[in-house]
Amino acid sequence: MTQSSVAALFDWGVHDLAERSESSRADVSLLMAHAMGRSRGWLVAQPDALLSEEQIAAFVELCNRRKRGEPIAYILGSAGFYGREFLVNDRVLVPRPETEHLVEDALGFIRGPVRVLDVGTGCGAIACTIAAETDATVDADDVSPAAIEIATENARRLGVGDRCSFYRGDLVEPVRGNRYDVVIANLPYVPTGDLPERPEPASFEPREALDGGPDGLGPYRRLLAELPALLGDRALTLLEAAPPTISQLAELVRRALRDWVVTVCNDYAGLARYVRASASPGAAGGPAAGIGPGAVATGRSR
Ligand code: GLN
Repeated sequence: MTQSSVAALFDWGVHDLAERSESSRADVSLLMAHAMGRSRGWLVAQPDALLSEEQIAAFVELCNRRKRGEPIAYILGSAGFYGREFLVNDRVLVPRPETEHLVEDALGFIRGPVRVLDVGTGCGAIACTIAAETDATVDADDVSPAAIEIATENARRLGVGDRCSFYRGDLVEPVRGNRYDVVIANLPYVPTGDLPERPEPASFEPREALDGGPDGLGPYRRLLAELPALLGDRALTLLEAAPPTISQLAELVRRALRDWVVTVCNDYAGLARYVRASASPGAAGGPAAGIGPGAVATGRSR
């Protein structure tokens, strides 16, 4: 084995990244595959293959970016979410596995061609996944033009562009007057004082996608002032937030949606991660209790 073989450079990379990344083996395999234009499986099968000078230089540069803290998703230009690849760049948040819980919950609830709203869609991970997994029609918005651009491209690539509409605007502004069966939001929710700093990967993400104001709930307060008018009679709403802020968010939701069934749900790590509110007690059980198409009138003004 020479110094420039897949196996030798793999070991060098794992050692190089060990201090920065808890997942240095996975990172190195993704970065090397990217630098070589090969699959990760090919790397495993070809430990003795040699990298060209250019491939080595490209690989070292990718490792350096990761060492400075840049998220692997920005380096690769894509991130996995609920089994699909989404284009991402540093103008949008990297989709997180915990957000898959909200999608899973919504999928259990949705039956037929219902209407769904994803507020603050970012790269479109929630919107496109729901469109791909159901017959729903999905509206999604974001205040960032860069987010709308990449979300639109993701929908097109995933073949759901015909059932996803993306609007640029602040919170509910682009969709005021509509009614939805499901409203999902993953708004900026990190309390300003807890915003990540270099070299944390999240410090490379857009501050406007993370900063939830002094207590992390500023954007949700603004959303909740308008949310009731957007929800149909038997609707479901799912709001992701930071675990330490969840009970306060649940209280705000209870006040905004009186008589709704409001619960707090956990993520993979067992942390309280989102607030779930359903209009009818019968729909409170998640997967078993869906709603049919036409459960609410759509396009109605407030
Ligand atoms: N989960 C993200 C983080 O903790 C925050 C996402 C958000 O603010 N919506 O970095």
